[in-house]
Amino acid sequence: MDRPLLNRRLAEFGTTIFAEMSALAVRTGSLNLGQGFPDADGPEEVREAAVRALRDGRGNQYPPGPGIPELRAAVAAHQERFYGHLGLSYDPDTEVLVTAGATEAIAASLLALLEPGDEVIALEPYYDSYAACIAMAGGRRVPVTLRPHPESGSYRLDLDELRDAITDKTRLILLNTPHNPTGTVLTHEELSAVARLAVERDLLVVTDEVYEHLVFEGEHLPLASFPGMRERTVTISSAGKTFSFTGWKVGWITAPAELVAAVRSAKQFLTYVSAGPFQYAVAEALALPDSYFTGLRDDLRTKRDVLAAGLTDAGFQVFRPTGTYFITTDIRPLGETDGFAFCRALPERAGVVAIPNAVFYDHKDEGSPFVRFAFCKSIEVLQEAAGRLKALASG
Ligand code: PMP
Ligand code: GLN
Repeated sequence: MDRPLLNRRLAEFGTTIFAEMSALAVRTGSLNLGQGFPDADGPEEVREAAVRALRDGRGNQYPPGPGIPELRAAVAAHQERFYGHLGLSYDPDTEVLVTAGATEAIAASLLALLEPGDEVIALEPYYDSYAACIAMAGGRRVPVTLRPHPESGSYRLDLDELRDAITDKTRLILLNTPHNPTGTVLTHEELSAVARLAVERDLLVVTDEVYEHLVFEGEHLPLASFPGMRERTVTISSAGKTFSFTGWKVGWITAPAELVAAVRSAKQFLTYVSAGPFQYAVAEALALPDSYFTGLRDDLRTKRDVLAAGLTDAGFQVFRPTGTYFITTDIRPLGETDGFAFCRALPERAGVVAIPNAVFYDHKDEGSPFVRFAFCKSIEVLQEAAGRLKALASG
């Protein structure tokens, strides 16, 4: 058979960088600041809630397709609690859909909403599953590059570039704020401009807000709360990030009923349903008091500061993140230019694993010198990693 087994749409997507780098971390016994998963599980009472559900036989058989009513109600109550003051609320029966993590929410949204040939605008560097899902849906990705802003030292969206990227074939904008991997949180001004363009050009928006509770300065602004946006926006979130149970794969979308119905049509043939007992536990987690959510954010802000200081001390240029649990760095001050080569060699050289941002770019040259480190780890691990990197830089 001379025909390749992997089809043309997926040919450029081999193994994800996260799997490759986590395997490298295990093989070399390195500190894994690559794949973004916390090194400590989320709240004990939430874990116990999952155990209770399993033991009580709740969710051990297929849960309802849209998600168990308790979780849909909890998602709607969470939106009301955190974003009600911005005018956002959702009907738990028709405007909430539970998915197998944000990953399935992204896949189902794109598979449902795109026709082959539709153009999708994504902020580059983009989370890797965006490119693969756009490809699976037969869409064409149109990257709009976020670039480090010389004055603020953070990545910003060029609104003219965004406007110019929209064509008659554009169907949707795939947004992500707080943004992985740069740690940028789009400003009110940037979000307003995205919203105005979406309304003006009658575009759908799928917005990945899985890091909604990890905003270190100011507050999270859901794109759906901007004028004219609720009706055209699918908002995605996930328990993995907010409750530190990335292995449970419980995510959800909130959107108007017609959009939820469309996404559900695709979702039902991907997994149908998933994570029965965990859905009960996440429903309880979403009702945790405000102090849980502020505690998570404050803990990660401290960890950000520890890792940012360590990386700066080790000679990296640090783009200080205002959200997420990732820090993007520039390795050029270390005399390095190729992030791929740097990350592949780093475990042997320093016993640390990181992610080369170039994998998140179409314009590989733009991403080449940037490397991402995750700080959802214990302070000791972050300090040890920073020490090893400093030794590397000075040795
Ligand atoms: N979107 C972004 C921006 C992410 O960083 C991640 C990864 N954790 C996901 C989606 C996937 O989330 P989940 O694990 O819930 O599928
Ligand atoms: N979202 C996580 C990250 O950016 C990885 C998730 C995955 O491995 N697919 O590190």
